[in-house]
Amino acid sequence: GDLAEAMNVNVAEVISKGFAMGMMFSINQRLDADQITLLADEFDFEVEFMNEDEEVLDIIEEDEPEDLKPRSAVVTIMGHVDHGKTSLLDYIRTENVVAGEAGGITQHIGAYEVTLENGREMTFLDTPGHEAFTAMRARGAQVTDLVILVVAADDRVMPQTIEAINHAQAAEVPIIVAINKIDREQANPDKIMSELAEQGVQVEQYGGKIQCELVSALKGTNVDSLLEKVLIESDLMELQANPDRNAVGTVIEAQLDKGRGVVATILVQNGTLKVGDVFVGGMTSGRVRAMFDERDQRVQEAGPSTPVQVLGFNDAPEVGDRLVVLDDEREAREIASKRVQLQREQTMHQRRHVTLADLSRRMAMGEINMLNLVVKADVGGSAEALSDALLKLSNDEVAVDIVHAGVGAISESDVMLAAASNAIIIGFQVRPGTGVRTIAENEEIDIRTYSVIYDAIEEVRAALEGLLSPES
Ligand code: GDP
Repeated sequence: GDLAEAMNVNVAEVISKGFAMGMMFSINQRLDADQITLLADEFDFEVEFMNEDEEVLDIIEEDEPEDLKPRSAVVTIMGHVDHGKTSLLDYIRTENVVAGEAGGITQHIGAYEVTLENGREMTFLDTPGHEAFTAMRARGAQVTDLVILVVAADDRVMPQTIEAINHAQAAEVPIIVAINKIDREQANPDKIMSELAEQGVQVEQYGGKIQCELVSALKGTNVDSLLEKVLIESDLMELQANPDRNAVGTVIEAQLDKGRGVVATILVQNGTLKVGDVFVGGMTSGRVRAMFDERDQRVQEAGPSTPVQVLGFNDAPEVGDRLVVLDDEREAREIASKRVQLQREQTMHQRRHVTLADLSRRMAMGEINMLNLVVKADVGGSAEALSDALLKLSNDEVAVDIVHAGVGAISESDVMLAAASNAIIIGFQVRPGTGVRTIAENEEIDIRTYSVIYDAIEEVRAALEGLLSPES
């Protein structure tokens, strides 16, 4: 019905054209994108699809350049377990509060803002590690401007160090290296730098462009110079936002509190969020009833790069959901309920992510011209050999890219990375870890495991050449 109206033709005509093409539907049935494209083509129309977010983004006005003001950087700390991420976050949290500011940071709300001695501010997401980072990206949210990569000087570059590098690079977020634990006797920063260089991370001390500081999170040594480097890097990025407009932000934490209802931490990314504002957040909506900062102080408004706890959601949003302030409460409700309905239908209708089996069809539809792969193998040599061979399968229509190649069982983090970069996971002599299969099914990520390298290469090649039958 809607399609007929949009094309200004009779509904019966659309239905009969569809019938002639082997599609049966009624007037109020929702069609999928392929069906709409085919039908519209019959009537000489070209279709341009807008996703639900664009619908809202349409409401969000573009900023005029003269309205933009500098905003502070949002930083995530990543690195291998036990290399000192939490210690560094804690040191920065306790030491770098403005002189005279009462209390320090008392609440864990998922992020905090610090003011340095020179008066400049920066915001840290305080869920260390790349899980949160990638989970957010999997939902299309990019909140981090900069990554601090922590590597312990008394250890070495570890699998999670490499993962963190790949995650940051996939998100195109600049890295600043913090070589930690330099107070330890066994500390060998030079070794770390050369190992990082092997991973393509060339630090300044090695003639590269990536800033690197030797720190001790435990003693606080050089943490101030590390933060100075963050400032330099963020200055280069010329981060800007317009504080004088309706807020747009991202949900970075959400929980149900017995007394207060839904409590969500929002990182404001543009505009200023104020008490009383009406908003839509993912599939839910609401009105800001009260806001609190990480010092548990009530605040009336929160500007760009500021994290705040927000009360007033009608329902719990999901981490990574975008929050958009609207002028009209009814509009907010309508958008939220429309999204719920759309999502219900979409999960029935189509796969979000690419699978090897539907690759050929989607290539033919022009939906895909890039095949991203996450490669996991039992030993490093195989991961490399397999990656090299897969890269060479690129052809005129599709470029193959390896988002991450690593050693070990297929993990939740691999699935989240695949979801974030719309990739297929190829496992050689490895299987998904416990529970990972289920997560992959929920995220609709295709995991393919092989015990012969040749089979893996041949199957991907067949899919790229359109020879793989859709059932396989
Ligand atoms: P995370 O797993 O990366 O968050 O690492 P943690 O911050 O929990 O640190 C792991 C261990 O290393 C803890 O026992 C810390 O006390 C210790 N540690 C962290 N930073 C330093 C440091 O700069 N020097 C020393 N000697 N120990 C550190």
